[in-house]
Amino acid sequence: MRETATVSRLKVLLLGGTAEASALAQRIAEDGRFDGALSLAGVTRSPKASPLRTRIGGFGGADGLARYLREHGTGALVDATHPFAAAMSANAAAAAATAGVPCLAVCRPAWTEQAGDRWVRVADMPAAAAALGAAARTVLLTVGRKDLAPFRGMAQHRYIVRSVDPPLPEDLPRNASFIAARGPFAVEEEERLMRTHRIETVVTKNSGGSATAAKITAARQLGLPVVMVERPQATGAPVSTVDEAWDWLVARHAEAAPARRGV
Ligand code: NAP
Repeated sequence: MRETATVSRLKVLLLGGTAEASALAQRIAEDGRFDGALSLAGVTRSPKASPLRTRIGGFGGADGLARYLREHGTGALVDATHPFAAAMSANAAAAAATAGVPCLAVCRPAWTEQAGDRWVRVADMPAAAAALGAAARTVLLTVGRKDLAPFRGMAQHRYIVRSVDPPLPEDLPRNASFIAARGPFAVEEEERLMRTHRIETVVTKNSGGSATAAKITAARQLGLPVVMVERPQATGAPVSTVDEAWDWLVARHAEAAPARRGV
C-alpha cells in the first residue's frame, strides 16, 4: 500500500466485466492514491470477487451515469467493458462528456487470422447463423447466452452451447446441449471438447485476449472453420492494455491532486 497521508485520493469508477477490469481493480485497490469502485451489469450470476467496492446493475442510460458521476464526485471513469458491450461504451463516453469527467476506454486487441485458420468473418449474429448454411452441421456455439436467438431459426444444426451461466431453456435452439464453463481454457481441453462432440464449425465473437483464444488454436489444429463475428465500432480511441490504462489513471491523479489540495 502506498503512502496516503499527504496525497488526496482520486475517485475512480471502473466499468467492468472483463479480465482487464479485474486486473485494473486489483491495482487500484492496492494503491492509496485511488478510491475505486467497480460497476458490473449484473449479467453473470456469480461474478469473480473484487477487492473494490462493487455496485451492480445499469445506471439508466447515459443520463443516469452522468448523474452518478456527479453525485459521487467521480474524478476519472475507466470503461473496461467487453469489446461487444457497445451500448455501455457509448453511454460511458456520452456521460463523461456531460459530467466533465475524464474517461478512458480500454479494449484488448482483436484476434487476427493466422496461417491455417479457416475464418468466415461476419458482421453480426444473424449473419453468423446464416453462415452455417443449409446443410446440417454440429456447431460449437460460444457467443454468450444472450445472443442465441438467430440460431434458433437454423434448427437443422446440432449445437453445443457453452457459456458461463446457463441460457434460459426458451433461448436455446431446439437441438442443443449446454456446457457451463468459464475461461481461461487450454488448447488441449478445447481440442478434446471439439473431438468428443464431433464439432464441424465453431462460432465465436472476436473477443480477443488470451482467456478464450484456445478455441481458435484448437480449431486451426483440427482444420475446422470458425465463424468469426467481428466487433462493433469502438467508441473513441481506446487503449489496448491494462498498463496503458494504469498510466492514464496515474496521470489523472497527478493532474487532479493540486486542484484537490486547493493549489
Ligand atoms: P451492453 O449491451 O453494452 O449494455 C447494456 C446495458 O447494460 C447498458 O446500457 C447498461 O445499462 C448495462 N451495463 C452494461 N455494462 C455495465 C456495467 N459494467 N455496469 C453497469 N451497467 C452496465 O453490455 P453487454 O454486452 O450486455 O455486457 C454486459 C456486461 O457483461 C458488461 O459489463 C460487459 O463487460 C460484460 N461482458 C459482455 C460480453 C459480451 O459479449 N457482450 C462478454 C463478456 C462480458 P444502463 O443503460 O441502464 O446503464
